[in-house]
Amino acid sequence: MVSSTAQLSNKKLHFVFIPLMAPGHILPMVDMAKLLARRNNVKVTIITTPLNAAQFKASLDREVHQNSSQIQIVLIKFPNSESGIPQGCESLDTLPSTDLKVNFFLALSLLKEPIEDLIEQNLLDPFPSCLIYDKNIPCVSEVATKFNVPRIIFDGTNCFNLLCNHNLYNSNKVPEDLSDDDYILVPGLPHRIEMKKSQLPALFNPGTNQHLIDVREKIRENEKGAYGVVVNSFEELESEYVREYERVTGSKVWCLGPVSLTNKDDVDKAQRGNKRFNDDDEIVKKYLNFLDSWPKGSVIYACLGSLNRVSPKQLIEIGLGLEMTKRPFIWVLRGAYRKDEMEKWLSENGFEERVKDRGILIKGWAPQILILSHGSIGAFLTHCGWNSTLEGICSGVPLITFPMFADQFYNEKLVVHVIEIAVRIGVENAVHFGDEDRFGDGVQVTREKVVDAIEKVMGEGEEEEKIRERAKEYGDLAKKAIEEGGSSYNNLSFLVEDIIYNRFSKSHITILPLAMALHFVLVP
Ligand code: UDP
Repeated sequence: MVSSTAQLSNKKLHFVFIPLMAPGHILPMVDMAKLLARRNNVKVTIITTPLNAAQFKASLDREVHQNSSQIQIVLIKFPNSESGIPQGCESLDTLPSTDLKVNFFLALSLLKEPIEDLIEQNLLDPFPSCLIYDKNIPCVSEVATKFNVPRIIFDGTNCFNLLCNHNLYNSNKVPEDLSDDDYILVPGLPHRIEMKKSQLPALFNPGTNQHLIDVREKIRENEKGAYGVVVNSFEELESEYVREYERVTGSKVWCLGPVSLTNKDDVDKAQRGNKRFNDDDEIVKKYLNFLDSWPKGSVIYACLGSLNRVSPKQLIEIGLGLEMTKRPFIWVLRGAYRKDEMEKWLSENGFEERVKDRGILIKGWAPQILILSHGSIGAFLTHCGWNSTLEGICSGVPLITFPMFADQFYNEKLVVHVIEIAVRIGVENAVHFGDEDRFGDGVQVTREKVVDAIEKVMGEGEEEEKIRERAKEYGDLAKKAIEEGGSSYNNLSFLVEDIIYNRFSKSHITILPLAMALHFVLVP
């Protein structure tokens, strides 16, 4: 017998989120967790380690206070000594050396026991209805099996990427003897997409470290038994790719994004990922005053992600290109990789003094979504990490693409060739994470190319105008998707209904009518 719709709609669900410890993974999962916790009868727990929790605790406290959401953090210890990762480091972006990547994955595999203990000791109350975890922590699947809880994978990317990887992997189109410069036509896509071998993610450029190769294989294998996948994207952006990915994998896919739009006011936006932020933050005010002082659509925002692994020589070319445009800009340096060399150049070259009237340099954490949502931003020079790319799409301005590794070249193809809201700056070769020193100080993009790409999206002319219009249209679609009645909003309802059905229904017949009926009862 199927329980009645009214009975099911009163059931309380408990979603447990387990994010990967890296800003590009934690931030969207926390945003997604907040969206979910705003639904009726839904409680959300985020399991993470103390230093990671510190990055978003204030933002969750605000969420609880403002929306009365049932959302909490449960802490587990990061296994530093067991994995050989120095104390004080609990995330990928704070690793003192990329050589510790293997240790980091070892640490992730050691999270299984503490998560199991939480469930066994009834510290996750009520009993979890569903585990939503980053695909890079495959040990969670064993926890899910042990306690018979559905597991849903969070993949930090979009369906275009997922489909490209799936089709390339399954068609064996990337034989080992292919050279780095060979091009491959990705099979089975709605558009003609060609990728240079070296630009493909690590799955196809595995390197020589057997540990990492094994880890990647385990992650890939682990995707198979999942209940479905949640994606930070929206249907209007890539509907053909969503449907095709569902078709070829037979997997349930819920596009729930753009999740960063859950942060509505300036405090939410400025606080995202910034534990030091307070309501009276002078630095944030300085950025806003700067943006307020420029006309609509006139400022370039340049940021190459949370990891920013670009060589100092290449960064300098970007800076000099920004200077040559004579346009106002905000340039985020972050300062992780070979920071001292960059600082030396800045202090000797006089760059900051020369641009002080129209340029701001951010050397730490930038309030990216706050900046991007300001009307005076006119273009975003991005490394094409998926979050940044999507945040750029939300801002409704054209992108200038500077991909480096992982899924970033795919994302470049999506925004340049599929939705046509971006121009390439001209990066040809990937520099994979941890391989930077092997590539030395090579400059792939000169300052002239930087200027050229910026003018193609900000300059006068019909083409330039068209790209800006398209970008604006996609920005509007993104905002609609997340609003009540929008595609992502509805998909979140379907996800909740699906899990209610999975946990509480005694029969597995008539899922569709029941899900539809529940949809109307549940949407708050
Ligand atoms: N981010 C930010 N300030 C910074 C650098 C990054 O707010 O100074 C945020 C950005 O908004 C995005 C995330 O960090 O949400 C980075 O994720 P993405 O996928 O773009 O790139 P990754 O850093 O993982 O390469």
